[in-house]
Amino acid sequence: MTGNQTKFRDARLAKGLVSEIARLNDGRATRIVHVCGTHEDTISQHGLRSLLPEGLTLVAGPGCPVCVCAAHDVDMAIELARQGHIVATFGDMIRVPSTSSSLANERTEGADVRIVYGAGEAVEIARKNPGKEVVLVGVGFETTAPTFALELLRGPPENFSLLTSLKVIPPAMEILVNIEGFGVDGFITPGHVSTIIGTKAFQPFAEKHHVPCVAAGFEPLDVLEAIRMIALQISEGRSESENEYTRVVSPDGNPAAKHVLEKTFKIADAPWRGLGVIKDSGYYIREEYEHHDARKRFDYPEFESVDILPGCRCHEVILGMIDPTECKLFGTRCRPEAPYGPCMVGHEGTCRIRHENLVL
Ligand code: SF4
Repeated sequence: MTGNQTKFRDARLAKGLVSEIARLNDGRATRIVHVCGTHEDTISQHGLRSLLPEGLTLVAGPGCPVCVCAAHDVDMAIELARQGHIVATFGDMIRVPSTSSSLANERTEGADVRIVYGAGEAVEIARKNPGKEVVLVGVGFETTAPTFALELLRGPPENFSLLTSLKVIPPAMEILVNIEGFGVDGFITPGHVSTIIGTKAFQPFAEKHHVPCVAAGFEPLDVLEAIRMIALQISEGRSESENEYTRVVSPDGNPAAKHVLEKTFKIADAPWRGLGVIKDSGYYIREEYEHHDARKRFDYPEFESVDILPGCRCHEVILGMIDPTECKLFGTRCRPEAPYGPCMVGHEGTCRIRHENLVL
């Protein structure tokens, strides 16, 4: 543990924050939702839920990019692998189960599916294989989207294309607040996403829905402080977008990253696994770069994709409506080494995190 980390894990400070949260919450039933897999990891690893006062619940919403990647997008990538193209993807994505297969299964069957650690690596593969088509599966939120945008701006080789499944977080928050009976009293907004879009981006949402929003970092004290700030806003009757993660996040975000996103992508409706199609929630490649758009460059047969496989309750987990342990397949048919649903795949998946923090 680094000195900086120790500073954000101080037990005495944590105790002080917990008692201040209890004082501000004053026994009220309060539901705070976060939309970030890394926040869920911090909360579960450090047992933060057990420290909170009775009545205050902390719920994990749709914060894992591979979990919310629609099965149809994964099926498109699988189809391209079957057509004989090189398909490059980040590590977690390869194991995401889709309608009837996964990229990992296709690789076992002989398809050329490669794991890359950055978009530039996929461009390099395209340069080294001029006789092949190389398709990079672009999955992520506002945080990762600029890395894909940059490669398009740099002018990749002709045989490189991008299959985008990039999502915009605020519209998904709109869906959550509009679900009848869901109930949200405050949002911990994602630190990484806020780094790009800034805390001002959440202000209209906070005002429109009268829901306090606080951008938080990823250490235990960051999360507790964000909860304290939300509890304070509620107690004072305010609904603003505030910033706990001031050491990284600014009100306006990162203008350079926003600029490259604006130049290369347009925003349109996008399908989210478990949530359906959400208005203006996806980044798609602009016409100027469409020769690198795998959605337009290749032909696909008609296929019906299945987002939620029989018995999997990922849609309810993604919406924070059930705890993963309420799924009958949790820890039995569905385990980290053999995931049945997408929420058990990666370190940001709620089922995977819960599994790793429970002794089964
Ligand atoms: S435990 Fe597995 S099958 Fe059940 S909801 Fe989670 S990912 Fe889906």
